[in-house]
Amino acid sequence: MSELKGTEGPVYTPESVEYDEQRGGYQRVTAHRPALVVAATGAEDVRAAVEHAAREGLRVAVQAGGHGLGEPLEGGVLISTRRMSGVRVDPVAGTAWVEAGASWGRVIEAAAPHGLAPLSGSSPGVGAVPYTLGGGVGLMARRYGFAADHVRRLTVVTADGRIRDVTPDTEPGLFWALRGGGGAFGVVTGMEIGLVPVERLYGGGLYFDVERVPGVLTAWHRWTATVPEETTSAVALLPMPDLPMIPEPLRGRYVAQIQIAHLGAEEEGRRLTEPLRALGPALRDTLRELPYTESATIFDEPDHPHAYLSRNRLLRDLDPDTLATLLATTGPSAPVMTVVQFRHLGGALARPPRVPNAIGHRGAARYSLNVLSPVEPGGEESARAAHRAAVAPFEREAVGTLLNFSYGPLDKDTVRSAFEPGDHERLARLKARLDPRDLLHGAWPIGSVQESRG
Ligand SMILES: Cc1cc2nc3c(=O)[nH]c(=O)nc-3n(C[C@H](O)[C@H](O)[C@H](O)COP(=O)(O)OP(=O)(O)OC[C@H]3O[C@@H](n4cnc5c(N)ncnc54)[C@H](O)[C@@H]3O)c2cc1C
Repeated sequence: MSELKGTEGPVYTPESVEYDEQRGGYQRVTAHRPALVVAATGAEDVRAAVEHAAREGLRVAVQAGGHGLGEPLEGGVLISTRRMSGVRVDPVAGTAWVEAGASWGRVIEAAAPHGLAPLSGSSPGVGAVPYTLGGGVGLMARRYGFAADHVRRLTVVTADGRIRDVTPDTEPGLFWALRGGGGAFGVVTGMEIGLVPVERLYGGGLYFDVERVPGVLTAWHRWTATVPEETTSAVALLPMPDLPMIPEPLRGRYVAQIQIAHLGAEEEGRRLTEPLRALGPALRDTLRELPYTESATIFDEPDHPHAYLSRNRLLRDLDPDTLATLLATTGPSAPVMTVVQFRHLGGALARPPRVPNAIGHRGAARYSLNVLSPVEPGGEESARAAHRAAVAPFEREAVGTLLNFSYGPLDKDTVRSAFEPGDHERLARLKARLDPRDLLHGAWPIGSVQESRG
């Protein structure tokens, strides 16, 4: 094999002391095992890595934070974008240029001094570019739509080693595909996104003991039918372990956590959430007016790497009988510890964006369901079986899958179900044209060798 020379960023091999740290990410259920890790510093490094892989007949994967790892790459070249973490805000245009490895946290910090915010999600540690390539359902989603709807341009290195400026005019097909279709079409080195004029919001979590307040899910579902587009919310069912690191009021309980982000003043937020507070005694209530820079406290998700698997469905609607099945399939006595989360969709998410993109099921999907379990080595199959059982009663309302919330390898039917009929074929044709040798190994198989294995 010829050596990869001339990159500004370092290159690691399995013999390097730093190899494990460089190939690892947030998801620990598995990891890429590449022959080379290129810690790219910019588009030229990415181009050099792609050209090297093409010369040697190696496949290429890309990783930023590693939250969304699908099927790991064996051999080949892993481009790590973590050093490409720059963010440049143009306050006059209300846009940001975001490099491939920048986390949402960095974009939030850079935008806030200008009274602006990005369409970021529940966790600031997630990479802004990978999140956006998968669509991106964020804290303000019902008001502003998917993060991908706000992309203005991207710089992309395609499998032929070209650095392309991708806009609706220069590369309409690729511009459509990358916004919602994932990263299998090229390596994005940066993107320009529109920011929104948001400094503060009313949000946080309401935690109820499901045993004392059994109707929380149905009450949240009823409540979502009454809220304006300014309100985006979710509800999670969490079996809290009886461990010292869990705060006392939650420890050892089966908890429903309603997560709310409302774009409005405190008084309005209080009025709007009154029906939820009236449900019963909350174990914890963190609802308050807060700056967008503290938006991570709304979902309060773990930020340490761990191993997890999930199953996800986009749903037309929810009904009380089906919701009631979750206690048996995922409750405290279920064989596998499972976290359930519903997000309320609709609003701007249901409307077509100004420039069409690959995101599917906009109008039809009013809720998403995600079931997720932390897994120990060897526990993968029982987690998958538990997830199938938990999701089964909801299948009759399912319209597809949301790729961003699907953690772990996906089969081709699941990937196909994320898109409108015909759109998956369009993506596969584009992939075949831009990457005929299937060099780029995306998290989700689209028209590739990965797909024929699925
Ligand atoms: C705790 C947590 C909270 C989350 N919250 C939300 C949320 O609120 N809303 C939401 O929509 N999603 C959410 N997600 C999902 C998340 O958006 C995806 O998993 C995303 O891909 C993770 O970003 P990352 O930087 O860790 O990606 P990585 O795991 O590094 O990358 C994921 C995949 O993206 C592709 N990719 C990465 N970089 C590039 C690039 N530069 N060019 C081309 N392709 C690339 C590759 O195929 C790669 O395998 C969450 C995930 C977690 C674990």
